[in-house]
Amino acid sequence: MSRVYNFSAGPAVLPEEVLKEAAEEMMDYRGTGMSVMEMSHRSKAFDDIIKEAEQDLRDLLAIPDNYKVLFLQGGASQQFSAIPMNLMKNGVADYIITGQWAKKAWQEAQKYGKAVAVASSEDETFSYIPDCSDLPIDDDADYVYICENNTIYGTKFKTLPDTKGKILVSDVSSCFLSEPHDVEKYGILYGGVQKNIGPAGVVISIIREDLIRDDVLPGTPTMLKFKTQADKDSLYNTPPCYAIYICGKVFKWLKKLGGLEVMAQMNAEKAKILYDFLDQSEMFKGTVRKEDRSLMNVPFVTGDKDLDAKFVKEAAEAGFVNLKGHRSVGGMRASIYNAMPKEGVEKLVAFMKEFEEANR
Ligand SMILES: *Cc1c(COP(=O)(O)O)cnc(C)c1O
Repeated sequence: MSRVYNFSAGPAVLPEEVLKEAAEEMMDYRGTGMSVMEMSHRSKAFDDIIKEAEQDLRDLLAIPDNYKVLFLQGGASQQFSAIPMNLMKNGVADYIITGQWAKKAWQEAQKYGKAVAVASSEDETFSYIPDCSDLPIDDDADYVYICENNTIYGTKFKTLPDTKGKILVSDVSSCFLSEPHDVEKYGILYGGVQKNIGPAGVVISIIREDLIRDDVLPGTPTMLKFKTQADKDSLYNTPPCYAIYICGKVFKWLKKLGGLEVMAQMNAEKAKILYDFLDQSEMFKGTVRKEDRSLMNVPFVTGDKDLDAKFVKEAAEAGFVNLKGHRSVGGMRASIYNAMPKEGVEKLVAFMKEFEEANR
């Protein structure tokens, strides 16, 4: 068996311990004589899996009792419509545009009401987070929307925007469980799990109970109504059972490591190794304003397209894969999620040093 260092932005690296455990349980999950993939979502075994996963997530994030945890499908992208359909009572919402994901969510919301871009960093290719301390928030805005960690551009909100009392909705797909999140500051905190938690197929949404209502927009599909899912504890229809099971294992792995404070510390150390190198390198440069740097997604360039391509190719040959940057930024991007070991980042930096030496 040979594993690579996988710097993919998503679906992304998972903890080896989790994969091994899942492999051991593949043919016979704890004496049931079947794989979790083969069992009924109404079975006792699966009921235990989903309940335990929820409890472990609640423990990790200290989720208050007045928040529901939903395991949903359709990707984070489906929430771009579900959120306005469930929350746009006044027909107005404010969006902060910090990248393609926020922009897509904003464009989708325009189908359902007045979605206003109250701030944007598009003028500089989303390489920074706009000042959100005094935004022109609409008086009747139903919520303020952010994408907290911008997977493509490598920026992150280090302080949450001042929403002037309005509900904050945050897409945390690519920073989910990378550090503690103060759940009470949000109306909704949601993310696709395939970046930092588990396999593709699950979106976890943590929703304050008063936002789970019957008076959704007319025409809201039953499946997209939060209340449908909440009333049935995410089992209205068949959930992505196997993916939820893997998420549950990742929650246990995080708990065993010491929880999210410890994870945050580890992530800060890992990212520092790479950023420190970028800051002194004469060849490689980070593309993001320093104070807004993400700890999860680190884009960088050499400034020369051919050299970028050479780097990506040689890195892959050396076992560092998926380093090609998003087509809108170019260059490279190293996604260094929770499951990327520190050693992976250290070795990548050593490789970058060698490459710089050899290509001066
Ligand atoms: C990947 C990503 C999405 C889209 O996720 P899907 O599950 O593919 O719909 C949305 N937001 C962020 C921040 C992402 O990183």
